Amino acid sequence: VAALLVILSLPAALAAADANTEGPPTAVEQALIEHRCGATRATSAPDTDAYDKCLNGQLESIRSDFGRDLSRLSPAERRATDAVCNRIRNAEGRDAYVACLSGQLIALRARRNHETPAVAEQAAVVPIAVPAPENPPMAPRSSPLLMWIGASAAAVFVGGAGAMVALKRRPLAATACRVCGVRVSGGGDLCPPCRHDAAESLRRASLERVEAARAQEDLERRQREQEEELSRRKVREDEEMRLLIEARAREEEQARREAEARRQEEAVREREHYGLEEDVFDPHAILGLPSDADRGAIESAYTAARSKYDADQVAHLSEEVQQHFRLKAAAVERAYQLLTA
Ligand SMILES: [Zn+2]
Repeated sequence: VAALLVILSLPAALAAADANTEGPPTAVEQALIEHRCGATRATSAPDTDAYDKCLNGQLESIRSDFGRDLSRLSPAERRATDAVCNRIRNAEGRDAYVACLSGQLIALRARRNHETPAVAEQAAVVPIAVPAPENPPMAPRSSPLLMWIGASAAAVFVGGAGAMVALKRRPLAATACRVCGVRVSGGGDLCPPCRHDAAESLRRASLERVEAARAQEDLERRQREQEEELSRRKVREDEEMRLLIEARAREEEQARREAEARRQEEAVREREHYGLEEDVFDPHAILGLPSDADRGAIESAYTAARSKYDADQVAHLSEEVQQHFRLKAAAVERAYQLLTA
């Protein structure tokens, strides 16, 4: 992982470089100087003075030509270098890329020195850079470096992977089912049987909730129906009561009319009886005569009726009888007046 990060950060490091020539080597510079001093290291013991001297000399040389972290490369030069070496990095990996970069820088320095008219300067630089002899032994020199970097990367990778596995495994190993305490593998805080039980009880609880909701709904529906039935019955009863009251009122009205009719009928009969009713007053009938009776018959009938209804005859009887006689006498008198007028 660390090696991968170094490779990925190379272009960024190139872009972010500044002109400072002090300080420890950057990642790119470290890779380049280790690449160039690989032969020195291979022939002597690691970290000896010769190797350190080579590293310092190469770092100074690279910085004097190209600036700290290759920051004095022109954009065109950087593009040309990337065009050649990025392809190699993609195809063959980091070591090949470092070798390519080193070769490109040496070639670039050679071109710059040829373009420079100052021969003395060129002479001074070339021996330090040693461009010619460096190219041929590149492959044999890079071999131990490649092995070393590969081993480091592998170690870092194995170490990182081990750490990750340890990190992952430690909490898993420590996890116990929170119900039964059985050790749980594969994450989670429940063992499979307990997880099944938990899911089952959740399902049952959900079913019970649904069932309870349905029962409550049924209850409410029945209550509503009862209320509606009660209200319908109330309406029916009210209607019946109204009809009953109306019927009773009609009966009373009917009885009242009948009583009125009877009373009027009685009054008519009474008036007819005494001949008081104007339109039915028949003077012949009152005197007991046929309608074609002559004057003599009328005179004799009148005399007879007057004596028949004489008030003196009933003076000793009740007031009701006397009233009856008076009415009859008045009727007889009126009939006589009408027939003789
Ligand atoms: Zn369990």
